[in-house]
Amino acid sequence: MKTENLPVSRKERMGENLRKLLICIMIIVTILTSLGIFILRDFGLGYKYYEINNSQTVYIGATKEENFLDKTINEYLEQLNDDGYYIVTSSLNKAFIENIAIIPKSTINEEEIKSTIIKHLDVSVLCTKLEIKNDETIYYFKSQTECDEFVKSLNEYITQEYTCNGDTQDYRVITKQDILDNKLNSVKEQKEKNDAEIRRQEELKRQRTKVTSRGGTYRVNKNYSGGAPMASYTYISSYYGKRGSGNHTGVDFAAPAGTPIYAWKSGTVTFVGWSGGYGKFIIVKHDDGTVSRYGHCSGYACSQGQRVEKGQTIGYVGTTGNSTGNHLHFEIQINGCFVNPLNYL
Ligand SMILES: [Zn+2]
Repeated sequence: MKTENLPVSRKERMGENLRKLLICIMIIVTILTSLGIFILRDFGLGYKYYEINNSQTVYIGATKEENFLDKTINEYLEQLNDDGYYIVTSSLNKAFIENIAIIPKSTINEEEIKSTIIKHLDVSVLCTKLEIKNDETIYYFKSQTECDEFVKSLNEYITQEYTCNGDTQDYRVITKQDILDNKLNSVKEQKEKNDAEIRRQEELKRQRTKVTSRGGTYRVNKNYSGGAPMASYTYISSYYGKRGSGNHTGVDFAAPAGTPIYAWKSGTVTFVGWSGGYGKFIIVKHDDGTVSRYGHCSGYACSQGQRVEKGQTIGYVGTTGNSTGNHLHFEIQINGCFVNPLNYL
């Protein structure tokens, strides 16, 4: 008995499984279908979109409630026929600017009414409005999150002034992706241009620095406040380098007459005496081959051929030779060439 019944019960069980499978498939198909409809709806199927053009391009979509505008317009037309005027409902009132809350009966053409309503729809009440400095386009987003995301991507390239305001309700606002992409691309391009310009300027600056620092010949230490080869000085009356059409081969330290002048470094005095424009002049050759020269002295404290030590008094400040006031004209020569003394004091 048992062995005979076995194939039957197996067949029954198979039938049972098949039914269960079919039910499962049906459930899955139902879910997928409704999900598909939902997704398609979200992509705009069955929605009406309007494009407004009054100086700015604004793209708005219809509400989630299908045919919202059609219903409103029909409602409007009915009331207009009955009463001769129409007052917008409180929910819609928010979306209109006040002065069209009452629309005259003469406006009876449906297309005209539609465009009037759309034209006066204050989108910023219903969605997040974005204004960008120096940009005429006003951007509308269906949510604050979308707006923030767009601002974030803009900020990757440039920090701007933004104002986000408004809120979303049942309206779905479309700021076309290509408009956003265009904006991002233009900002990106501008940023790249700016960066290239900055790099160019830096390169120019680098090249200029290279030229001016070559050899250090014309460096002028205007902020020099260091020492001088003398007891004291009041100020630097002339720096080393270009002076008028000529070249100032030393630095001038203004000081009262008679101020002791010191040997810059140890060495041998190779010249003491009058030398044209230098007036009373002293030259010292140092042990390392460098030479220091002291002009316009009022007197000497050394003689030619004498060995002097660093800091030893060798003469006194004066205004002899081609000079207009008491000062020490101090020069340094390295390998026979003048250098800026302020770099060696
Ligand atoms: Zn001088």
